[in-house]
Amino acid sequence: MSQLLTTDVLIVGGGIAGLWLNARLRQQGYNTLLIEQQSLGGAQTVKSQGIIHGGTKYALQGALTRSSEAIANMPERWLAALNGTGELDLQGVELLSNAHYLWSPGSITGNITSFFASKAMRGRVDQVKGAALPPALQHPQFKGRVYRLAELVLNVPSLIQRLAELAGDSLLQAKQLKPLYNNHAQLIGMQADNYLVQAQRVVLCAGEGTAELLNALQLQQPKQQLRPLHMVLVKGQALKPLYAHCLGGGSKPRITITTHPTTDGEWVWYLGGNLAEADGVARSADEQISHAQQELAELVPWLDQTQLSWQTLRVNRAEPAQSGLVRPDNAFLAEQDRLLVGWPTKLALAPDLSDRVLHHLTQHAIQPTATQTYPDLPRPVVAQPAWETLF
Ligand SMILES: Cc1cc2nc3c(=O)[nH]c(=O)nc-3n(C[C@H](O)[C@H](O)[C@H](O)COP(=O)(O)OP(=O)(O)OC[C@H]3O[C@@H](n4cnc5c(N)ncnc54)[C@H](O)[C@@H]3O)c2cc1C
Repeated sequence: MSQLLTTDVLIVGGGIAGLWLNARLRQQGYNTLLIEQQSLGGAQTVKSQGIIHGGTKYALQGALTRSSEAIANMPERWLAALNGTGELDLQGVELLSNAHYLWSPGSITGNITSFFASKAMRGRVDQVKGAALPPALQHPQFKGRVYRLAELVLNVPSLIQRLAELAGDSLLQAKQLKPLYNNHAQLIGMQADNYLVQAQRVVLCAGEGTAELLNALQLQQPKQQLRPLHMVLVKGQALKPLYAHCLGGGSKPRITITTHPTTDGEWVWYLGGNLAEADGVARSADEQISHAQQELAELVPWLDQTQLSWQTLRVNRAEPAQSGLVRPDNAFLAEQDRLLVGWPTKLALAPDLSDRVLHHLTQHAIQPTATQTYPDLPRPVVAQPAWETLF
């Protein structure tokens, strides 16, 4: 026998997009149910580097594009939430670093340097030296320049844990999802295992799983693109914290390094950027590790690599389709009757996606109904990050 659950908004997918949206809607008084197939954050979100970009890395092209303007206020919004004064109360979420750095191992070309010093970038990019350098770069052999960006790096598992708390009793784990239609062939919800969930709106934010859900709904649009990445993880006591894009001359960072504490008291460097993109994807795990070892030997030659452990992680980024696999820089939301389909395109842009959903609800006069509770549902667990499971 199926059990009927009714709610205002049904959210499919418990990554950052679904969890942030769920918390915001609940805070506005909406009843919500969020269905997660596996674990909370376990697809892309806890595999992310946790950087709350303000768009400054796009300034590597030497100009602030429109997209970098759009993302520019994200660090401020997240910081307010972390301080308990923002749109969500994220007090207790661990801030790994209150800055991300741009690090040029050589000399940055004249254009970029003068752009960094320009009025557009004032207060967003400051050069740091000596004791103000990130600990991993404080070494007599260090050469190059380092710029501090007003961006944040979060401990993503602690973020997901907090959003799971804010979700209260609204989380439901279900393996099988099928669309539910009324007699007029209108979507009215989802069958999720033995539950029939009816809602005024259904929001798909299932990351890579969205394509299959759209297929089940017999919809051709919006189309999704996947960008495969081959990340590298390195663990050991010789590592010190470093949160930086290392510049390589092109418009993308040569390597992006974030540092994550593990429960056994060590640090893991998580390496992405260009290293993890096309050429990196083509490499086998062993080739990718040996490439990363050479990169670090060149960039941080004082780092003793003898006691380090190495792993790689393959993961797809799921985004709305763009021509030529260009990176989309805004949260994306498509609307079709009662169905909304979203990809935040970045962890940092989850608030932007929620804004768009809330705007839709306001425009269509969808109001919160009387408060419901959902006791005794099967609940999804919070995913473990790769730095805990791979070593
Ligand atoms: C290696 C890497 C590094 C990154 N670094 C950063 C960064 O530093 N900063 C940044 O801003 N962004 C970063 N990103 C991007 C960011 O991680 C993603 O944009 C964001 O996490 C996407 O969140 P999401 O909720 O849309 O998707 P996901 O996190 O993929 O969540 C989707 C959820 O939906 C669930 N699901 C799928 N199908 C179904 C179904 N049928 N029924 C129920 N549930 C389903 C999945 O199990 C999953 O939990 C990074 C991404 C990667 C891969």
